[in-house]
Amino acid sequence: MDRVQIPAQGEDKEALLEQMQSFRSGDADWKAGKTWSLVYYAGQEHYDFLKKAHNLFFSENALNPMAFKSLKQFESEVVQMTCSMLHGPDTAVGTMTSGGTESILMAVKAYRDRARKKKPWILRPEMVIPSTLHVAFYKAAHYFGIKTKVVPFGDDYRADVKAMKKAIGPNTIMIAASAPQYPHGVIDPIEELGAIAKSKNIPFHVDACFGGFMLPWLEKLGVPLPAWDYRVPGVTSISADVHKYGYAAKGASVITYRDMEYMKHQFFVETKWCGGVYASPSMPGTRPGGSIAAAWAAMRAMGEDGYMGLAAEALEATRMMREGVAKIEGLKVLGQLNSTVCTWASDDESIDLYAVADQMAEKGWNTDRQQNPACVHCTVNAHNKSAVPDYLADLQEAVDHVRAHPELKNEGEAAMYGLMAKVPVKGLVQHSVRKVMEGMYSPSGEVPDLSKVGEDDDDVVMSFINKYGDKAMGALEKLESTKNKLVGALNFRKW
Ligand SMILES: *Cc1c(COP(=O)(O)O)cnc(C)c1O
Repeated sequence: MDRVQIPAQGEDKEALLEQMQSFRSGDADWKAGKTWSLVYYAGQEHYDFLKKAHNLFFSENALNPMAFKSLKQFESEVVQMTCSMLHGPDTAVGTMTSGGTESILMAVKAYRDRARKKKPWILRPEMVIPSTLHVAFYKAAHYFGIKTKVVPFGDDYRADVKAMKKAIGPNTIMIAASAPQYPHGVIDPIEELGAIAKSKNIPFHVDACFGGFMLPWLEKLGVPLPAWDYRVPGVTSISADVHKYGYAAKGASVITYRDMEYMKHQFFVETKWCGGVYASPSMPGTRPGGSIAAAWAAMRAMGEDGYMGLAAEALEATRMMREGVAKIEGLKVLGQLNSTVCTWASDDESIDLYAVADQMAEKGWNTDRQQNPACVHCTVNAHNKSAVPDYLADLQEAVDHVRAHPELKNEGEAAMYGLMAKVPVKGLVQHSVRKVMEGMYSPSGEVPDLSKVGEDDDDVVMSFINKYGDKAMGALEKLESTKNKLVGALNFRKW
């Protein structure tokens, strides 16, 4: 097997660095503003400064805060600055984490363990969440053995308060909502949900991973926003990512709680281990010092004025995007302006949204396809502003092209998303995506030949039949052609 090995002799460092640069050629072009989300860039000067700050604490490890008091101080001050920004009470506490997902995992874990203590009779803990909540909550539920009760969103893509209230039952250990939610950028009705959480005495997490470091400035800029932070009674925890609109280096988020009564359930302590007494606030063991130090440096270097300046630019770019998209015949913008997001969808049956998305991807735009309903999400940053006119021109062209070529909906990713809307195919997509992952992370790293996936997998076919009975028979007849299309679509994605 020609598996890669550590070279017998160390290689030339300059040559390696050059080679690494060359690996970049296939990457998304984020500096030119062609990515929406993924990279939060605040200009070259800030970027260079961040790298220096990160490098200063490149080797230090926050696993043991007693050994590195510097990191403890950075973390403590990042948490304090975040709690202040979120209008937390004096009792507010928090820890830094590696990112939004870890912050959310920690909140869910804390509430699960809190319920185990306070309501030990709950054997099947549940959380009630709107369908627009970030997928990290599903991951948390999957890891920690919690059932998700997912409530469809209401008008304007905001959480449906009545339906959420109804879904809360004796096994509910927490509820959650977003400020704003990622898919459409709207803020959920936090005040109404907070009142319910308070009256039922259930913890309420607000996921502000995305908007935590943006909404405070939009509010100051006069954008009308519903209340969403600790000023709302009933909110017991908030997550906010410094590595998004906080413009920190990657690997930095903050999970905050109204008081220690909630956060204490996040901690892990083991006293019996041969290696000694072990205490850890969050998921990892080793915690990289660089991202903690860079988060502190980013917040101090930006200051309110820096954040406000970038927020104003991003807001203007968002308005340009939303107005521009709304003017394109056949498209519409979803949800009201609550944040720096522009999510657009097709407004015309003859224009397949995913076919338009494929066209945009071909034009080099990093395109974030969403479903239920079909739409494309654009996170707008200050540095996207100069790219907005090009984006809108390309979008107009893409729509015109799809209007002239309706058959495009059967090609590329459009075909895959189109098929996913048909229920029985969802199982097949799950199955295929899992096979792709097993391939990607296999010893050879080779993605399997998708035309063979599921070929002799009677289990899949049987589970179809068991689950869908007669309906499955009809579906199976179509399966062959469906599968071929799916294979084409997945191959197109070039995993
Ligand atoms: C990005 C995001 C997360 C997850 O954060 P990661 O840093 O990607 O782990 C959670 N919630 C929302 C709303 C987000 O936008």
